[in-house]
Amino acid sequence: MTVYLVGAGPGDPGLLTVRGAELLARADVVVYDRLVHPSLVDLAPVDAERIYVGKAPGRTEIEQADINELLVEHGRGRAVVRLKGGDPFVFGRGGEEAEALAAAGVPFEVVPGITSAIGAPAYAGIPVTHRGTSTHFTVVTGHEDPTKGSADVDWEALAKAGGTLVILMGAGRVGDIAARLVAGGRPAETPVAAVRNGTRADQRTVRATLATIADAGVRAPAAIVVGEVAGLDLAWFETRPLFGRSVVVTRAREQASELRRRLEGLGAEVIELPAIAIEPLAFDVPDLDAYRWLVFTSANGVAAFFDRGVAPAGLDARALAGLRIAAIGPGTAAALAERGLRTDLLPERFVAESLLEAFPAPAAGGERVLLARAEQARDVLPAGLSERGYAVDVLAVYRTVTATPDPDVLERVRRGDVDALTFTSSSTVANLCDLLGDVPSPQPLVASIGPVTSKTAFERGLRVDVEAAEHTIDGLVDALLGALSSDGV
Ligand code: SAH
Repeated sequence: MTVYLVGAGPGDPGLLTVRGAELLARADVVVYDRLVHPSLVDLAPVDAERIYVGKAPGRTEIEQADINELLVEHGRGRAVVRLKGGDPFVFGRGGEEAEALAAAGVPFEVVPGITSAIGAPAYAGIPVTHRGTSTHFTVVTGHEDPTKGSADVDWEALAKAGGTLVILMGAGRVGDIAARLVAGGRPAETPVAAVRNGTRADQRTVRATLATIADAGVRAPAAIVVGEVAGLDLAWFETRPLFGRSVVVTRAREQASELRRRLEGLGAEVIELPAIAIEPLAFDVPDLDAYRWLVFTSANGVAAFFDRGVAPAGLDARALAGLRIAAIGPGTAAALAERGLRTDLLPERFVAESLLEAFPAPAAGGERVLLARAEQARDVLPAGLSERGYAVDVLAVYRTVTATPDPDVLERVRRGDVDALTFTSSSTVANLCDLLGDVPSPQPLVASIGPVTSKTAFERGLRVDVEAAEHTIDGLVDALLGALSSDGV
């Protein structure tokens, strides 16, 4: 088989190449480093073996020779993706790995990645070359520890060469490096920008000059740009409205992606802390001819009814022909539309009370309603519809259970070390509160999707700061945007 040396890009998972994503999706083994975004490792099949070879607290770094051996060993029989930060051949020791594979006769391929040397400055609004300002750029290591195998850098010569210098692994020695560049003839007022955690939600850019960078508080991992271009600030990434804000998403993992995408698009750091997990239930498909209405109160209900809980033979779409379909809101309607079904009834406000109001009176002689929903749900719809004269059957198609959270993330939320918590249902509130045990202190901003969710939050002792005007994901994001971008937290 083959070992693929794949560049993961500098941090933003969207910067992985298409080729890299393809290879990850069919990898047998993924061997990855510390700076690789976890969501990229998630692209591998669930049963792929995942081997972490980065540093971890209290553990010494794995020797390069051991990594080489690991790649050779696994590469003999399986498709191995060796996922490396940035580009594998830019200070990534990818060259050594390729040498070892070649020597052992194990086939390998290289998938270049976006190096932090270019990606991090770009996200800080710095082009490494710029017409009229810089005609070339040099990427150099600031790490001169001989045990790491890097030769001594001739900083004075680099100073004389001019242009843009991008220094990687130089955060700890930036003062010495700046002094040597000045000694070599670069003016002390030359702009310097150090981009830490470039392209990630926690990116920070420190701007200074060669004279002042030593005391500017540069911390690793940083790409340090020296030269006139470092004075440019074509800001776009750090100016997005939720940049620097951390927002907790408590929806079930399967459901979190839309909210995550929206928030990330606005620049937020999204922390997934799924408070609930969805467990589809087994059920017998009832005789649908007996019903006039089929009602769904969540996209989960739609998924469980059509894709998961249904009897092994599945559902014949023609069985739905005589039914009218009601959905509680646009997310549920969209889940139906994905399955080729139009929603006949969508209430004005996306809560059970509003759906109840929107229901027409049953025809004389009565009509039956089938309500496919969670095992634990409010009584508003079945009770209200019965009162209106419908015969109502409730079909439990899934249940929500408390998820098992990542302990580090849970601890961070307990400390109140996040800017906002988002809740999209009562069950996310209840389960998160159970997981936390206590209201986080200080309490982060709490954003709720609607009145029912807010009520549960109040009952659990949370202060609800904002509630979505429209009870949808878009409405929730709008509410959060208003609150977080105006209160100056
Ligand atoms: N192969 C990588 C570099 C590995 S060396 C690449 O092409 O980007 C590790 C160094 O890369 C770090 O010390 C830091 O200087 C730089 N680096 C990696 N990721 C970075 C990021 N997101 N932001 C800024 N610098 C980064």
